[in-house]
Amino acid sequence: RVLRPPRGSWPFVSARAMASLPTWNGHYVNGQWTSCSSGRFCDVTDSNTGQVCARVASGGAEDVNAAVLAARSAFTAWAEKPLSERKAALQKVLERWQQKKGTAVEWLTKELGCNVKFATQVQVNMVDMHLGSSLKMVDLIKFEERMPMGSLVVKEPVGVVGCITPWNYPLNQIAAKVFPALLVGCTVVLKPSEVTPVCAYLLAEAIHEAEVPPGVFNMIMGDGPNCGEVLAAHEDVDLVSFTGSTRAGRRISEVAAKTLKVVRTELGGKSAALLLEDADFQALIPKFVKSLMANTGQSCNALSRLLVPRTRYEEAVGIAKKVAEATIVGESADSKASIGPVVSQAQWDRVQGYIQTGIKEGAKLVAGGPGRPDGLSNGFFVKPTVFADVDNKMTIAQEEIFGPVLSIIPYSSEEEAIRIANDTVYGLNNAVGSASPERAVQVARKLRSGMVMINDTSILPDAPFGGYKQSGNAREWGTMGIEEYLVTKTLAGKPPSKL
Ligand code: NAD
Repeated sequence: RVLRPPRGSWPFVSARAMASLPTWNGHYVNGQWTSCSSGRFCDVTDSNTGQVCARVASGGAEDVNAAVLAARSAFTAWAEKPLSERKAALQKVLERWQQKKGTAVEWLTKELGCNVKFATQVQVNMVDMHLGSSLKMVDLIKFEERMPMGSLVVKEPVGVVGCITPWNYPLNQIAAKVFPALLVGCTVVLKPSEVTPVCAYLLAEAIHEAEVPPGVFNMIMGDGPNCGEVLAAHEDVDLVSFTGSTRAGRRISEVAAKTLKVVRTELGGKSAALLLEDADFQALIPKFVKSLMANTGQSCNALSRLLVPRTRYEEAVGIAKKVAEATIVGESADSKASIGPVVSQAQWDRVQGYIQTGIKEGAKLVAGGPGRPDGLSNGFFVKPTVFADVDNKMTIAQEEIFGPVLSIIPYSSEEEAIRIANDTVYGLNNAVGSASPERAVQVARKLRSGMVMINDTSILPDAPFGGYKQSGNAREWGTMGIEEYLVTKTLAGKPPSKL
């Protein structure tokens, strides 16, 4: 029996009432929790056990249409509010979010499977990072600019924004889209990942409690084909901001093309860490390999290829092997574990398939390999795996694995290393290691990717995040991540300033 929560209330129905499964049976539309029109559900799986641990609404066209209508109706009033009022409303969201973090950690450790430490220190704080940074960076945006001959160029919110987000850093991607869009005066319909939905409900609850005006933010839960495609194709959505696989990005671009709306995409990657001969291997290889393993390899910018000079090849393989072997895999609650399981059975099968393909195509397995780590017979656990002697033409060097699997590729000259790094359809991220930061920057300039990390693995939220080639066309974070939600209007005839 499907219980429906009372109209307008938080859509949670307890485990006892739902025959042992906690259920979120609704969407957030026009400032209210609404029930789902389809009567369908998506299962949420605990990645540590492989068992279904919750259910959420699986919406359809009727739900999406209602949310877009609400967003359209709220647009003009929200866009015309002074920036200071929108900032104040979102500051309140940040305050409300602090109350939700504990519950979000609890659910992230199940639905995503990351460990408590990573959920607490990284995942839930990404809301603070993006919202906090957007609140500051928005002051750097030139909403109005006088041109040399007297024209006035103004920037205005693009309108209704559809945001479609993935499961790997679920709060990060929601926050990096929704808050910049809302800050500049857009209204939003969010379709989060149905794989990690509970943390999205919690963030929506924080927005609701902050009393953001009805219709400004809306959330429809559901899958890609029934919900995401309807949102992307909708004629009253002005812009779609998508983060996810290159496959879904292509499909979204196709269905959105009919209305010629703007489609911003943040897609997959096959990033390389390129170590020059003079680099400090003992310091850099552990840093690069640990950053790949973080979030169990499920990062779009994961440094999944390690390019090393033949002259220091054995040394590099030895260090990488040691780091992988020291990476402890365990359940989310295990405080000694460095990483948890991958997110789902589908993801586990996919990663295992790539490990088998690597072996079949002749790469040399130096750590990890097929199957589950000892003592972890349930759940979606994968052994931290390192392949050496990888040729860049092999499948494991070309395709995004999205698991804790490293490919080490030898090179003979700097030119060859750059050619190998660029020899992929992706172009999201790379890293360069060298004792000379100047030399590293020279190499970085030759890499066809949206980001290059110099002797480092972190990226700060004050600069754009995004890719070249089939890694997508969007830029999030920093001022560019805010400008994505603006359109430009020229006021000709030497008009007076609008401000
Ligand atoms: P996915 O493409 O399967 O799903 C992402 C979102 O799109 C989900 O909300 C899903 O429901 C929706 N979706 C799926 N098919 C759709 C369709 N046909 N129409 C509309 N919506 C659809 O991706 P995922 O498995 O959730 O995430 C992993 C992928 O995301 C990886 O490829 C990773 O590299 C990429 N990613 C990229 C970035 C970046 O910034 N470039 C960041 C994180 C993740």
